[in-house]
Amino acid sequence: MKKLLKTKIIPFFLSNRGCPFRCVYCNQFFQTGETASLKKQLDVFEEKVYRYLDTISGKHKIEIAFYGGTFTGLKEKEQRAFLSKAKRFLDKGIINSIRISTHPLFIDERKLSLLKEYEVKTVELGVQSFNNKVLFFSKRGYTRQTVFDAINLVKNFNFKLGIQLMAGLPMQSEKISYIDSIYSAKFNPDFIRIYPCIVFKNTKLYDYFKKNIYSPWNVKKSIMLVKKMLLYFYVRKINVIRVGIHPVSDVSIIAAGPYHFSFRLLCESALRYDLLKLVVKKFNVKNAEKINLYCSKKEADYFRGIKNHNIYKFMRKGYNLTINEKKPFEENYVEIDKKKYNLPYKDLNKIYKKLVFNE
Ligand code: SF4
Repeated sequence: MKKLLKTKIIPFFLSNRGCPFRCVYCNQFFQTGETASLKKQLDVFEEKVYRYLDTISGKHKIEIAFYGGTFTGLKEKEQRAFLSKAKRFLDKGIINSIRISTHPLFIDERKLSLLKEYEVKTVELGVQSFNNKVLFFSKRGYTRQTVFDAINLVKNFNFKLGIQLMAGLPMQSEKISYIDSIYSAKFNPDFIRIYPCIVFKNTKLYDYFKKNIYSPWNVKKSIMLVKKMLLYFYVRKINVIRVGIHPVSDVSIIAAGPYHFSFRLLCESALRYDLLKLVVKKFNVKNAEKINLYCSKKEADYFRGIKNHNIYKFMRKGYNLTINEKKPFEENYVEIDKKKYNLPYKDLNKIYKKLVFNE
């Protein structure tokens, strides 16, 4: 099988530039550490790209990405200034693609045509939720219908579509977050990002938190939900490219919320633990029987969990779980008593769904 080249991103963080207002949870200056003005970022654009290129060894696809603000909310001349610089690298074959991230209110035919003019490949929409109450209390400034319209337009223009979701926003229950996954999947996006809501200092949410108007989710509650969202996307073969915020260099900017530097691993391994528990039940595995699991290297890390947490948990229950790494891209399976079984992802998804909707 032909090996797919990994994509390396050269990120430009625009830190709240172009945003019509400040969403309650957001402080991009804190989160990204990027405080330079747009002019300064344009002045050092080429230098920064070459600096990044120097750090990339081996064969990769390379993409310039504009994150951390509302790209299509910038003035048209500012958008053109950034895009023309990026396109020059594209035209020379130095990079392979361009992506932008933006707010659903700032999507229309004119804006998308501008992105097409500069051969932007991917548009990421900061959707966060499809629930009108959640959107209102998070001060997102739009309704579910705005998101539907924005997504449809992005798809009609044939951009690759990314949907960013959040979990734990004001008024957002676990059920609402799960329903957000269902809405997202209906549009068959090219990828998803899931960010549990963190309380950063110097935000409206921090004020709410101090006044006890808002209670953030803890890590455990967030894992319990996000593992279910992940499975919902996985059974539909929708790629989830990010779970949890990027590690911050100074944790003192975080006041509360489910921040963990290995948040994705925690969610993925909780999901694999439930899957193995279901294997034991479904295939009637007896105590002390050996469960041989065959999976790819990446999956093996998820099945093991942090410091082999899942293996030890199974050992304590009296099962002997061995994880064997296979070549990537092959289906995962378990072997019990020399018989092969497919892992019951779909069954677990049904169980999760019932739990969320309390059926
Ligand atoms: S639109 Fe995005 S970057 Fe701008 S304030 Fe809201 S969350 Fe932050």
